[in-house]
Amino acid sequence: MSEWLEVGMDNYVLVTEGSLLNTGLIVGSERAMVIDTGCGPRQGRQILDAVREKTDLPLVVVNTHAHYDHFFGNAVFAEAGVTEFWAHQNCASEIDQRGDVQRRHVGTLEPEMAAGEGENVELVVPNAIVKDQPVWVDLGGLTATLFYLGRGHTDGDLLAGTATTLYVGDLVEQGAHPSFEDSYPEEWADALRHISALRHRYEFLIPGHGRPCSDQFVKTMANTMTTAVRQARQSIRDTPNDATKAIPVLPYGPEQSRWFIKRLQENRRSSHEAS
Ligand SMILES: [Zn+2]
Repeated sequence: MSEWLEVGMDNYVLVTEGSLLNTGLIVGSERAMVIDTGCGPRQGRQILDAVREKTDLPLVVVNTHAHYDHFFGNAVFAEAGVTEFWAHQNCASEIDQRGDVQRRHVGTLEPEMAAGEGENVELVVPNAIVKDQPVWVDLGGLTATLFYLGRGHTDGDLLAGTATTLYVGDLVEQGAHPSFEDSYPEEWADALRHISALRHRYEFLIPGHGRPCSDQFVKTMANTMTTAVRQARQSIRDTPNDATKAIPVLPYGPEQSRWFIKRLQENRRSSHEAS
């Protein structure tokens, strides 16, 4: 039996091995929604089997963002008859255009996915698109709201909310440093403040990885990020030729700090080009 954690009535979360991904499950009276499908056919199958222990209803899938551990399991669900795959438009186009490149990250956990050979290793690009306006998905007796708070962990982070529970993908990570590779650190801190402002609406906040979080956790994450942006900017100004000087100052691990600085510089460059 799988270990689903109940997080509000008809809301569940399942942790799978590897990246310790949280898969969400929202069960209505007519359909159920699965949030994030794992890093390949093996994990996708494990998640689907666990879902089937909870419900036999037709499924819809949500991908919170375009990182492989959240959408590489899609093909298993497509094969099982799922036709509705939700994502933000930037997430869908990222999967479509550069999803294949991420196969190299999967490693030994999903060798078939890494090689692109075997069953259910094709990429399934989300076809139900959310843009800047929220979308209400009727599951029968309950509605899931899919919405976008701007750029953050990536440029296409989608959130899913019900009457009790908010699934936020990797905008929040518990138990590990945030991942900045595709991030927009300044805007991410704003998105976290926005999540915190919604706290009265939800009893449970489910991060992309790790334990359910308190509002205080989200606030601290936002404040830490804002402080880090200031510190990194100062270092970049002080030593423009060696921004890595900021790494020991930042409140993240060396690897995350390196990405943090790189993304700040890249975002700044692209906003200058735009203006
Ligand atoms: Zn991610």
